[in-house]
Amino acid sequence: MPTPKKHTTRSRRDMRRSHDFLEVVNTVNCPNCRSLVKPHHVCASCGYYKGKEVVTAKA
Ligand SMILES: [Zn+2]
Repeated sequence: MPTPKKHTTRSRRDMRRSHDFLEVVNTVNCPNCRSLVKPHHVCASCGYYKGKEVVTAKA
């Protein structure tokens, strides 16, 4: 097995891990059916986007 040449400090290790955490997904309420939707995305439950039905929603 290869061995690391330099010791990784706590600071360097934690800086590397600063991007590893999950972020809270932002949601808005669908103006048509009030369910939670991602902004600028078609609503998954009613298929509406910008006040119009653009996709036929699944039953
Ligand atoms: Zn909806």
